[in-house]
Amino acid sequence: LFLKAVIVIKFPSLKNTSAIIQHIISFFNLIDKNNSDKMKENNTSGVIDMIWEFELPVKIVFGSGKRKELEKYIEEIQGKSGVLVCSRSFEKNGTAQKFTAHSGGRIKAVFSDIRPNPTTKNVNDCAALLRKTKADFAVALGGGSPMDCCKAACAIAKGDDVIESYHTGGKPIRAAEAIPMIAFPTTSGTASEVTNIAVLTDTEKNLKAPMNDPAMYPKTAIIDPELTLSVPPQVTASTGLDVLSHAVESYWSTLNQPICSACSVYSAKLVFKHLERAYNNPNDLEAREKMAAASITAGVAFSHPRTTGSHACSFPLTNLYGVPHGEACAFTLDYFIKFNADHADASGRITAFARQCGFESAYAMADEITAMKKRMGMRTRLSEIGCTTDAQIAELAKASMSMLMTRNPIPLSEKNILEMYNALR
Ligand code: NAD
Repeated sequence: LFLKAVIVIKFPSLKNTSAIIQHIISFFNLIDKNNSDKMKENNTSGVIDMIWEFELPVKIVFGSGKRKELEKYIEEIQGKSGVLVCSRSFEKNGTAQKFTAHSGGRIKAVFSDIRPNPTTKNVNDCAALLRKTKADFAVALGGGSPMDCCKAACAIAKGDDVIESYHTGGKPIRAAEAIPMIAFPTTSGTASEVTNIAVLTDTEKNLKAPMNDPAMYPKTAIIDPELTLSVPPQVTASTGLDVLSHAVESYWSTLNQPICSACSVYSAKLVFKHLERAYNNPNDLEAREKMAAASITAGVAFSHPRTTGSHACSFPLTNLYGVPHGEACAFTLDYFIKFNADHADASGRITAFARQCGFESAYAMADEITAMKKRMGMRTRLSEIGCTTDAQIAELAKASMSMLMTRNPIPLSEKNILEMYNALR
């Protein structure tokens, strides 16, 4: 057995680094064992062509209370004058002001005109403030919506164009026009703090779509689980299911690779154990910490393999029916697990994932996800979100066919997706 691996790792400093490394080592052993079992089964031997790269140029800081060290982290990126980008509720309830106080006077303005699922207009307005104040850094405080808005605005801050030119217009981001960003996630969900992706909604084109560029990575991601204590139960459930979708989809993505797969398993196990605990007891700091760890490791997990069918379907579920992002991802996740277990598990990888998470089979894992969704008040049928007619279902299937679908372990046609939605009526 020859493993050919090209590895470029800048693995960040996590509090649990040794546990994660231990997990990665045992995961490599599992892969090794699965491969040699497979070879024995098939009576084959030889070279497994395994070539991949891993690079995550984001410093990750994890720990309750870390927000109070903001000034130190601004100093590290040599920021002098910056803008805080957060949701309006944080500005209204005084969180933004308290936060700004930790910056040693370096945050000079606040931008909070951001709706959930941020629009390209939100980004242009944010970029306008960055330009007007000549900001040389920005700090995002919030869930995926403020982080994505901030990320996209920072990427064009030193230029003079609008984000639509880059989002859908094909214009490449220029690193020279970007300013650095520090991200503080306040939900355990999107992991936007470690990705170079911003998901934006262009209301004129009625399109929600991701954009990405190497220049869009935040410089520093600071995960302070205390910031998630105030997340209401429904948002905890939805964002936590986003974490699970990242973990599962990155694992089976056609672009999967070992470091990311190890993080997928690590993250999913935490979600199965701690999400409902956080949902039922919002002030349980330990459960919040575990979910924050699940979120960031799922972020590492999908950083390279990206996401697949469930995320592809989530965009029109949000756009057309207003389903919150995580709930929209989880809407089809259990179906995809069964579908992929039936049609794309010849190697036994998907079953192995379910077993690592403590289930007998992929079907048992999918059934538990359906049950979890119901226990947490998430919707599971299209009739519950107002999608009832054949015409609506056909429109939804059509709009779900983005390129993310091509990373599913087995190719999916619009007919497959239509069948799925009909089964979820
Ligand atoms: P969100 O940022 O829209 O926040 C959801 C709600 O929770 C908002 O009302 C917000 O005010 C509230 N909230 C957030 N933190 C809170 C806290 N600590 N206390 C109380 N209330 C709080 O939701 P989200 O799920 O974090 O982000 C969704 C967005 O992120 C979507 O647009 C999605 O497409 C995008 N996304 C981006 C990536 C990426 O890699 N960039 C990945 C996945 C999803």
